[in-house]
Amino acid sequence: MSESIQQAAIVTGGSRGIGRAICIALADAGINVVINYAGNAAVAEETAQECKNRGVSAITVLADISTEQGCSDLFDAAIKEFGRIDILVNNAGITRDNLMMRLSEEDFDAVINTNLKGAFLCAKKAARIMMKQRYGRIISISSVVGVRGNAGQANYAASKAGLIGMTKSLAKELGSRNVTVNAVAPGFIDTDMTRVLPDSVKEGILAQIPMGNFGKPQDIASAVCYLASQQAGYITGQVLCVDGGMAM
Ligand code: NAP
Repeated sequence: MSESIQQAAIVTGGSRGIGRAICIALADAGINVVINYAGNAAVAEETAQECKNRGVSAITVLADISTEQGCSDLFDAAIKEFGRIDILVNNAGITRDNLMMRLSEEDFDAVINTNLKGAFLCAKKAARIMMKQRYGRIISISSVVGVRGNAGQANYAASKAGLIGMTKSLAKELGSRNVTVNAVAPGFIDTDMTRVLPDSVKEGILAQIPMGNFGKPQDIASAVCYLASQQAGYITGQVLCVDGGMAM
């Protein structure tokens, strides 16, 4: 792809936490961004403003990516605004933690539908556009929990392990069209998702991290930006663990 083309990225759940850091890092790289979110418009607008301050165009799109309609709305808005999609970051994710014997079918489905099915629906729409462009980058945010498992997170671990299997499968399907598909597996990152955990749980996790500290959203954003770059064009089907050594 020519260096002069202005690229556009969709970041699902891009309004806060890791997604926000990814949007800002992509904006720093000169990439236009579509910031998807599920309900909190004010923080999504703040993220858009941060991106615009860096000289790129940014739009916010309220859409539930766990549904086909939500994904259609998201991609329609993105194409209307930018006419192309070069990068999809499947970042939107939720937790509904419980030990298996207490884990309801509803909470199992909610997590799988957002974290895994949503990524599939978005990847399918992105792939159609990227195959025609003969260029694309699809990056899904998995988790150390998808690699190692975690008591109390059977639904979440299944969704994140599922993303890894899907990433490798899509990499095989799309490689010949110059579309790379990779996953980033964060360890423990300081965001709203992890802030709610009791201190005793956090201490237990910290003890498992060789580097001895929690990660920041920017640590994940740097890895995503690299995989999204043209320099990473020969990397596909990989899982990049960004976890201070936790998954080793
Ligand atoms: P977060 O702070 O809770 O933010 C979640 C984002 O996803 C928000 O923008 C939220 O939008 C959006 N979202 C949730 N459900 C959605 C849906 N159905 N459709 C569209 N958007 C939706 O989460 P985070 O900690 O930044 O995590 C981001 C990703 O990294 C997730 O996939 C998570 O599983 C993964 N991860 C996180 C950690 C960690 O330690 N934090 C570790 C490993 C992996 P609203 O604000 O509008 O609801």
